[in-house]
Amino acid sequence: MRVVDMHCDTIGEIYENRLLGNKYELKENNLHVDINKLIKGEYLLQNFAMFIDIKKYKNPYKTLQEMIQVYYEELEENRDIIKPVYSYEDISMCANENKIGALLTIEDAGALEGSLINLKTVYEQGVRLITLTWNHINGVGFPNFKFKIDACGNITEKVDLITPNTEFGLTAFGVELLREMERLGIIVDVSHLSDAGFYDVLKYSKKPFVASHSNARAVTNVVRNLTDDMIRKLADKGGVVGINFCSNFVMPTPHTDLTFTYIEDLVKHIKHIKNVGGIDVIALGTDFDGIQSTLEIKDASQIQLLAEALLNNDFTYEEVEKIFYKNTMNLYKELL
Ligand SMILES: [Zn+2]
Repeated sequence: MRVVDMHCDTIGEIYENRLLGNKYELKENNLHVDINKLIKGEYLLQNFAMFIDIKKYKNPYKTLQEMIQVYYEELEENRDIIKPVYSYEDISMCANENKIGALLTIEDAGALEGSLINLKTVYEQGVRLITLTWNHINGVGFPNFKFKIDACGNITEKVDLITPNTEFGLTAFGVELLREMERLGIIVDVSHLSDAGFYDVLKYSKKPFVASHSNARAVTNVVRNLTDDMIRKLADKGGVVGINFCSNFVMPTPHTDLTFTYIEDLVKHIKHIKNVGGIDVIALGTDFDGIQSTLEIKDASQIQLLAEALLNNDFTYEEVEKIFYKNTMNLYKELL
């Protein structure tokens, strides 16, 4: 079964380890994703997110540029196996050449430092999907935490995984950025974005958008997951939601080991999303190398365990194909 995964943080891990003086490579490493694991997992395409923690790095755009350089260096090192893609045709060509495609994405649009010129530059560098926010307020929009206003009128961050932020959505610049992303051909990603922001994107977007790595809030009640209404609206718009493997967003509660991600719980989310939004809205967005959980599917090489579990849970082969790559490929065909 071919695989398209909309989200992993592997390049960020390689980048950070190198800053610490450790030699990490994409070919083979002890992370969730490396070239050998992608081959074993039968991957057609992996989205590689340049995850920028805008509070950690003084010059987020500079860090982004360094990370993009690492991404291209690693692809060049492994060019006989993996290849950067920029369009649907590129992905098809890759498949024909029996190579794995790599799609460049950014997690946290704050890395663009409020500049549409930087957006244009990263598009030219190959970025084709941007997650509008991570967990910080970034000038583009608000992440999904409940915020309070203090006596001085300042917004204070309050981390609460249960209460959604239905108040603060996209900023005026966020709306402008979204429009420019759609004009250029960069896919809008609402994972991490507040509930208010989701509905702003729904209102202002003219094209389908994605939640690249989020699950169902009705199954696991955390704000990083989508409500049933959001799943339906996303499906109506023609978007997809990528199933995230982070235990906090997956486990329903009966398990005592809260940091473990069980395959049966992933199946529960997929079943629920299918019931609510239909089979065409479901995709994969593992969040490999961005999560600390212990995984039953321990890395990319074992992704087919999920296909087997779905087939054993009354999903048809055609349905599993849709979840594993066809839904995302259809979206890329339309948008890239
Ligand atoms: Zn994320």
